[in-house]
Amino acid sequence: MNGRRMRAAAVLASVTLAGSVVSAAPSTASDQPKERYDVSRHQTTDRAAAAQVRAILDHLPADWQANRDAFLDKAGIEPSPAEDAIIAYLERATCEETELNAYIETLLKGVPDDTLFVLAVLGVLSYPTFDAVIGGTKTDPRYSLETGTVGKVRQSMAAARQLWDVKNGDIDVMGMHSDMVVDRARVIRVLRVVFGVSPKDAQEAGTQIVRLIKATPALRGGTNPLFSLNAFAFTGEGDPDFGGISDRIVMGEGIIKALRWTDDIAVGPQMVLSHEFGHHIQFENHAYPATESPANTRKMELMADAYGAYLDAHSKGLNFTPKQIDGTVAVSHLVGDCSVDSLGHHGTPAQRARAARWGADLALKNGSNVLPSKRVQALFLTALPGILRG
Ligand SMILES: [Zn+2]
Repeated sequence: MNGRRMRAAAVLASVTLAGSVVSAAPSTASDQPKERYDVSRHQTTDRAAAAQVRAILDHLPADWQANRDAFLDKAGIEPSPAEDAIIAYLERATCEETELNAYIETLLKGVPDDTLFVLAVLGVLSYPTFDAVIGGTKTDPRYSLETGTVGKVRQSMAAARQLWDVKNGDIDVMGMHSDMVVDRARVIRVLRVVFGVSPKDAQEAGTQIVRLIKATPALRGGTNPLFSLNAFAFTGEGDPDFGGISDRIVMGEGIIKALRWTDDIAVGPQMVLSHEFGHHIQFENHAYPATESPANTRKMELMADAYGAYLDAHSKGLNFTPKQIDGTVAVSHLVGDCSVDSLGHHGTPAQRARAARWGADLALKNGSNVLPSKRVQALFLTALPGILRG
């Protein structure tokens, strides 16, 4: 999680990694898009896509991206891995293959490239995230936790509250669902509040976006898990613009479905919750660096992985078995990314797995003793160079 000002411009220049480098991204009919797409510049050789984007952008104010980036920056919310994957696919970037990418490939099957481009330029993959910040409440059934995970999530939250030494009574836990993107009223609210679109233009643009999604069979009437393949921690503390919005952890329906698909459901929801709680520890301890950079984002993400695995492994936390701890490490690997130049970069799969393993080992080493969260942070920062290097 981080603010991601200029993220769109920073996404995925040519990334090369040691070891196997394969196509990150998903393919529809063929392995590569036939046309050229540049999401950050809104440029494409695909005339149909260009016309669709233009028709909607005509209703957006000149500063819509600046408004959105300011919102992201202030809210400091987690980028959607699906959004990154789609941009990576359209722009033909490469990364280590993970099972998450494989799952995203299945979700993209049959979605035409021109539609993906429209969704990517307009950032539609983040609308449920925006909506959950500005409109979510823990009692509204539209933000319910995904069926089958409620117990795991609640248990993890209770364990986190008990183990960690930070103020945490004010954090709400809720879900978000893909079909928000076909709820015209909520799409319009996102356009107005986040992008600064006028009421009349928001109606027009919102109608077109919902129509496009509904007209694309592979998007399953808006229920495609792509739209909610994300989880994030949010605090509005100290920011009057977010007055009245509670601190929260939001678990997307799509990320839970991904964990089912990759066979990580036994421990995945717990690790996602533990990781997001780690961000709340960082908020409370004022651990966030003043300046934004891909390296700073990565540091905070890897630290959250370490906090998460510490909770999972600790005898006074979730007290995972060695096999379950292996599962936690696998989940961290799963959600790594290779957007190393992006402000949304969370760490590569291998780095995230090492950070989680480090956190679990620290918990096990300390027996029943619980370290203060700031002590864990200090130890993590000392260990970070090794975690990055491997
Ligand atoms: Zn995070």
